[in-house]
Order: sequence, then structure tokens, then C-alpha cells
Amino acid sequence: MFTDKKILILGMARSGYEAAKALSKHTKNIIVTDQSEQEEAHVKELKALGVEIVITKDPVYLLDESFDYVVKNPGITFLHPLIEKAKSLKIKVINEVEVAYHLLDKGVKIIGITGSNGKTTTTSLIYEVLKRLDKNVYVGGNIGYPVCSFIDKAKSGDILVLEIAGHQLHDIYDFKTDISVITNLYQVHLDFFKTYDYYKYNKLKIFNHHTEDNVAIINIGNKDVVSGTKDIKSKKYTFSSLKKADCYLKEDAIYYKKERIIETKDLRIKGEHNYENIMCAILVAKQFDMDNAIIKDAICDFPGVEHRIEFVRKVSEREFYNDSKSTNVESTIVALKSFDNSIVLILGGLDRGHPFEGLTPYMDNVRYIICYGQTKDRIYEYALSIHKDSIRVESLKDAVKLAYEFSNPKDTILLSPACASWDQYKDFEIRGKEYKKAVEELKEVAHD
Ligand code: ADP
Repeated sequence: MFTDKKILILGMARSGYEAAKALSKHTKNIIVTDQSEQEEAHVKELKALGVEIVITKDPVYLLDESFDYVVKNPGITFLHPLIEKAKSLKIKVINEVEVAYHLLDKGVKIIGITGSNGKTTTTSLIYEVLKRLDKNVYVGGNIGYPVCSFIDKAKSGDILVLEIAGHQLHDIYDFKTDISVITNLYQVHLDFFKTYDYYKYNKLKIFNHHTEDNVAIINIGNKDVVSGTKDIKSKKYTFSSLKKADCYLKEDAIYYKKERIIETKDLRIKGEHNYENIMCAILVAKQFDMDNAIIKDAICDFPGVEHRIEFVRKVSEREFYNDSKSTNVESTIVALKSFDNSIVLILGGLDRGHPFEGLTPYMDNVRYIICYGQTKDRIYEYALSIHKDSIRVESLKDAVKLAYEFSNPKDTILLSPACASWDQYKDFEIRGKEYKKAVEELKEVAHD
């Protein structure tokens, strides 16, 4: 499909780099363009493969009717002027996932995971369980390793577990999975997709080209998932923590049909949302006829994904959790619902002007709020309005110190900021690491 074709790759980073490397084996007619300077080693390597690299803020001039494909980085808006031009010239716009699909060995089994929330956790869980099969299993996609990086590695019979974000489903056409998982659908990412309908339409492409030989794992507790998958041809397996499904929750245990698979008390990850992520992993494992004892073992061993309600440490009978990934009120609600003991909550970060009132029904266990970052004053006002004790601090380090001071033995101290990190940090990962560092330092103080 790509032999001797002329291809423009818009956006380099890791996925453009991997796509260029893979495509360079099929054509010498590739230009990669990006608005900012790229890693020198990657640039050198691509140039040596005959790829042209153009760094420019206005790449539109690079495209003319002589091109066969544009490969767009998933993060770039589909309204980009170069994409508009490609459309007017009737040049096909695809992405790195679509490129990889065409170049991967057709015998590789693909498992695709999408959804509004829980993609990374579910993808990691599925990977951890399937790793216990006697097969080569790889994990990639939105989780950090571009799909193109598996083209040379994955062989027929191997399994590729892929986290596929909505952005990555936008420019796929032939991409097809063997097993697709959709965790849930909520109104998010509308800044990118503009309307919820368009977002849902793209998300549901995870089931593209499915026949009755393929498997769809769907959340029947989510009405948009149910209505969106009504007409798909796949063999459906359902899960829900709210109602009876193929995988469900009953008497503090997770069941697959009549089989009691795991008791929730044996899990290291918290919250009903995680039970649903686990159900996805069980349903995938069942497709490979895995033994219940092995499935249980892998899931009970799973420590969770860094920065998602991650247990950090116990200090003087207080348990510290890092939920730095929580960048909005909805995910802080999910975190609050995961604990039933008393909580000291660290809230705050970038001020996007969003209200915090949505937290109120879930604040019963919160006895103290540490208001931190750019939103500290608004959170302080909010805390007053719901009659919660609170204090304002500037830095995360001070927030940790004070949370510790105001806590009691047996409390949970939770960073679940409900705000993006960009007021003080480059990303939520760095914020989470800073938090953990501050918690580590506390421990030393406590043991002096
Ligand atoms: P994603 O990759 O889709 O962003 P993550 O696994 O990174 O999802 O989890 C991000 C946050 O989403 C978690 O901290 C948690 O608050 C919430 N979450 C995780 N799984 C679910 C789920 N199944 N349903 C609802 N919320 C979830």
C-alpha cells in the first residue's frame, strides 16, 4: 500500500518518528514536518534513512497534489490548515496506528482498549494477565509506545495489547482489532472533537470491520456504550459493577457468569471503577481460556498505575495516596468514592475557572481540605461554603507537611487535585513524583 508512495508526516515526536522509520522501508519519498526542533539522534537516524525533515510553523506549502498520503500525529487538530488542504486536494489523511496496521504481520492478535476513563489502567491489567500466557505479549499505543514500533517485533501468534485514545481513532480506516474493549463513554475531550456525537462516532470505530468472529467487551452500565454498540456484528461480552452482566459484582466478589473469580478484599487497587477495569481483563483472559487461579493471581498482584489512586506509603498509621492524574472534578469524585475512612484532601492546581460544587455529595468523609496552587483561594471559599476545615498553601511540599500535621492515625491523605498541573508543573506525572518525594521526606522526619 505504501510502496514508492509520496508521504507527508505532520508532527514528528515519537509516533511520527516511528511511522517514518517503518515507512522508509517501503518508499524513499517521505517528508516529516514539525513546528519545533526534534531530538537530534532521531533526526540523524531518519535523514540517514533518506527521510527529509522540515521544521516550520507553517507547513502548508509543503503539500501539493503529488502526495499520496498525509500521516497526521493524533494530537494535532483535524482542523489544521494542512489537513484542510489535504482534504481539498483529496489526499488521504491517516495516522500512525493505521500505518502500523497495514505493516504488521496479519497473524498478530490485536486487542484494542478505548473509553473515556480507565484506558491506561485496563490496558495495563490486560497486559499483566495475558503475560502469564505462554506467548509473546506486547503493550503499546497511547500508553507510550507507538504501534509502529512493534512492526518488526511482533510475529504471527503474538498478542498486541493497545490503548487507543479517541484522537487515534480519528484517522483510521482499515484498522481492525480481534478483541475491542470500551470501558465507558462520557462527555470529555470536546475541545478536540467539538461535539459529543462526533466524539462517540470516533470512539466506536474501535469496533470497525468486526464480524461475529471478533469480540466486543462492553460496559452495559453505560447507556451511551449500550446504544452505540447496538448494531455491531461482534460477539458481545458485557460487564458492569451496577447490574447483572457476563462479568459483575456480587457480595464483595467479582464473578464471571457463575464463577467467583476474585474477592475485592484481595485487591491492591481501590474503587468500583477499578472493579470494572478488572472485569474487562477477566473477559479478555476468558477469550484465551485462562485458568481462574492464574487470572486471580495476576490481578491481585497488580499494584495499579502510577499517579492513579496510587498507594505511596504508610507514615505513622496514615496512608498517603497519589492521584495526580485527577485533573478534573469527575475523577476526584471517583477517588473520594474509593475510600470509606476519614480523608485529608489536597485539592488545587491550574485555575480553569471550573466550579468545585460537584464534589459536595462525596465530601462526607473529608475532614480537612488543603487548598493549594493557583485555585487555592477559590477552593478555600468552597471549603468555607460546605463548612469544612481548610487551609491555603502555595506549594505541594507545604501541602503534604500540613496534611500530615492535620491528620489523625488511620486517616487517608489524598492528593486528588481536580485541577491540571500546569500552574506549577509541566505535567501530572512530575506533580505526582514531587508529591511522592515530599511524602518520602516526611517519613524520614517521622522516624527521627
Ligand atoms: P485514561 O487512560 O482513560 O485516562 P486511567 O486508567 O489513566 O484512564 O485513569 C484515569 C482516571 O480515571 C483515574 O484516576 C480514575 O479517576 C478514573 N477512572 C479509571 N477507571 C475508570 C472507570 N472504569 N470508570 C470511571 N473512571 C475511571
